[in-house]
Amino acid sequence: MTSIKTTCCVVGGGPAGMMLGFLLARAGVPVVVLEKHRDFLRDFRGDTVHPSTLELMHELGLLDEFLKLPHSKVHELSIQVGADHLIVGHFEHLPVHCKFIAMMPQWDFLNFMADHAKRYPSFDLRMQSEATDLIMDGDRVTGVRAKAPDGEIEIRADLTIACDGRHSILRERAGLSVEKLGAPMDVMWFRVTRNDSDAGDAIAHVESGRMLVMLNRHDYWQCAYVIPKGTADDVKQAGLDSFRGSVKTISPFLGDRIDEIDSWEKVKLLTVEVDRLRRWYRQGLLCIGDAAHAMSPVGGVGINLAVQDAVAAANILAEPLRSAKVTTETLQQVQRRREFPTRVTQRVQIAMQNKLIQPALTNKGERPKAPLFMKLMQLPLLQRIPGRLLAFGVRPEHIHSRAA
Ligand SMILES: Cc1cc2nc3c(=O)[nH]c(=O)nc-3n(C[C@H](O)[C@H](O)[C@H](O)COP(=O)(O)OP(=O)(O)OC[C@H]3O[C@@H](n4cnc5c(N)ncnc54)[C@H](O)[C@@H]3O)c2cc1C
Repeated sequence: MTSIKTTCCVVGGGPAGMMLGFLLARAGVPVVVLEKHRDFLRDFRGDTVHPSTLELMHELGLLDEFLKLPHSKVHELSIQVGADHLIVGHFEHLPVHCKFIAMMPQWDFLNFMADHAKRYPSFDLRMQSEATDLIMDGDRVTGVRAKAPDGEIEIRADLTIACDGRHSILRERAGLSVEKLGAPMDVMWFRVTRNDSDAGDAIAHVESGRMLVMLNRHDYWQCAYVIPKGTADDVKQAGLDSFRGSVKTISPFLGDRIDEIDSWEKVKLLTVEVDRLRRWYRQGLLCIGDAAHAMSPVGGVGINLAVQDAVAAANILAEPLRSAKVTTETLQQVQRRREFPTRVTQRVQIAMQNKLIQPALTNKGERPKAPLFMKLMQLPLLQRIPGRLLAFGVRPEHIHSRAA
């Protein structure tokens, strides 16, 4: 078995892992990033790069180059709930360089981070390398075993960081206890051709018994049809005609284009989970991003929160990693820094799930109405709050780890 020795082993090349790998390499820390897939090209990844992440790109001196990647700009987010049309966030008043959400395929974002990280000699990205277990020395995690294209490898590291998402194998192997917060919905994900005459921005529409979110990807719509949790089999049993009919009722402008969905193969089920770890670390191991707290798709903040975790982790860990002084106390500092923003964000997501999405999905009768708190947020003085929260999150991070 091949054995590698490094300072930090990051498992998972999603937004958390790629940003962390980049920042540690930039700070001169030897880092190996393992990603189980051969590329970043998976369709279900979210596309929403919020002003907080764009501001970090500015701090890193990468913003101009980043904005050359194909993207569309969303200056205002709105939602249609029955007959109510509500603005849920506008960004033009924010004190940032980019007063918009960049809708950018996540694979472009991840490739961009990988390309920049590869410029640093201490960065080692290994695709098609899947961590399968932790290596332990007594109570201490000292690395991981992984399946790689040429067979099994083991990576021994001073610190292992689990960025392997909401089904994290590392957090399970480490025996870290998970608090499940629940989600009333799952998502059926598909794409339909987009015409130039269609509306430009993202569309979110809630009607009784159904909800559809459509993301503009230039020549096609990436569509998320939201269903009550655990009902995907019922939807399939009712047949494709019924499914297409439901989508068409909520977005009639799609017309015959919905017939492009001519097989269930074209519809992917994503189960939604919201949870968080009680403790994000143990000796030699830290979890961040969805591995520490699986986020609901509500608000499209998950990528950005994962990036914020990575920035905070790099700020706190880069220097101790370089001088081999990481202790359990250092890992605890990362949790202390990021737990509060996570809790507040999940609380808001759960309020939206319980007060808006669940009632709408289970009500098959009269048209749904927007909850009172959402209507209050339309008042001019209050309208800025949700936009700010969406754009920055709670306690936004800045780059403090230095470039070596
Ligand atoms: C239906 C749905 C829609 C969403 N839409 C949005 C959205 O539009 N915008 C948004 O901001 N957020 C969205 N989210 C949330 C968002 O996807 C996550 O919060 C975010 O991707 C978390 O980033 P991460 O890097 O922590 O984990 P992930 O993005 O899950 O990345 C984990 C990475 O680890 C790799 N991996 C897993 N196991 C291993 C292993 N054993 N070894 C090596 N590699 C491994 C995976 O292949 C993956 O690349 C959505 C979530 C859901 C469920």
